[in-house]
Amino acid sequence: MLTNEIKALADSWESMAIDIRRMLHRIPETQFNEFKTSGYICSVLDTLGIPYKKGYGGGTGIVAEIHGEGEGKCVALRADIDALPIKEETNLPFASEHEGFMHACGHDAHMAIALYTAFILNELKASFKGLVKILFQPAEEGDGGAEIMIEEGVLEDPKVDVCIGGHVMSEYETGTIVYKKGSLMSSPDNFEVVIRGTGGHGAYPERCVNPIAVTADVVKKLTSLTDANVPRVVSVCTIEGGTCPNVIPSEVKITGTARTFTRQSREEVARLIEDRVREVCDEYLCGYDYKFIPLYPALINDDAVTEAFCTSAVKIVGEEKVIPTHQVSMAGDDFSYFAASVPSTYVHIGCRSEESEEIYPIHNPLFTVDESCLKTAAMCYSQYIIDCLAGEW
Ligand SMILES: [Zn+2]
Ligand SMILES: [Zn+2]
Repeated sequence: MLTNEIKALADSWESMAIDIRRMLHRIPETQFNEFKTSGYICSVLDTLGIPYKKGYGGGTGIVAEIHGEGEGKCVALRADIDALPIKEETNLPFASEHEGFMHACGHDAHMAIALYTAFILNELKASFKGLVKILFQPAEEGDGGAEIMIEEGVLEDPKVDVCIGGHVMSEYETGTIVYKKGSLMSSPDNFEVVIRGTGGHGAYPERCVNPIAVTADVVKKLTSLTDANVPRVVSVCTIEGGTCPNVIPSEVKITGTARTFTRQSREEVARLIEDRVREVCDEYLCGYDYKFIPLYPALINDDAVTEAFCTSAVKIVGEEKVIPTHQVSMAGDDFSYFAASVPSTYVHIGCRSEESEEIYPIHNPLFTVDESCLKTAAMCYSQYIIDCLAGEW
């Protein structure tokens, strides 16, 4: 439905969407501080006359609404809006103007795609029923703005029937949309362990229990919990302990991340980490404190929504550009809260330029997107939302 109209609108709005992405790229802000970013999104929505409510998710979240003709279903499209504390090294003419901060996860592209989709749907709103909610969500990196916005009721009144979203990925070529039914991204939980030994003079280790020696064994055992067959990843990422070369400290703190896909394997990893820590500490006769810090649930795509999304995407970008994958990602994304609340799908948006020799992954100071990915994603989102609200799905 309306495939040619969507393509024509996508052509006419493309350069504006690229300008928006570049503008947002200049002003990266980290979680819950996305005030300039949020203000800029509101100004774009104002220009287009698209109504919105702001102040969600700690202040910077926005919900824009595009009403079709008459009663119908409600589809939500989510875009995350935060950046990372990374110093940009791309030397692009529109590189970050905020020293030490960067849109290294491509959320600038996600916002531009969401606004681009909003322009297209706003032009075509006489052709569908129901409502489109565009959710601009703060704090994806770390503290989970999604959960807060859901608690604030963004999925209610009217109730959201389906939610979609996506992430730019430089491992996939621009122009492609990569999808997966079922498990897509892990539960990215954290853990903290404090090993309590007995400190003393570095010259007399026999009078001490050196927590650094204990930690060395603990790290080895925890690392070996990583198991591709589960799948499960356990990585120790920080070690803090000791102050000078001749004093054995009395404690060492380690932190790390544990990634799993099911509730059962999540509970199991929390238990296994403590078991390994206890075994080593018992051997050395020392104590420990242990904390498992659950972050997001795993991101599980709904089969039927994923299938319907792909059928719509194929209509507009062609079968060869809509690619299935069996690979799960050990990264996490708090889109998982939306997916756990309503039938949802989250796709990967290829953003690697064919000409680029080097591929820099997300969270790298040289990461960048081939901007033609904006059009591919906005067309696929628009086509799916229109098909969904026209009653096709
Ligand atoms: Zn990220
Ligand atoms: Zn991201």
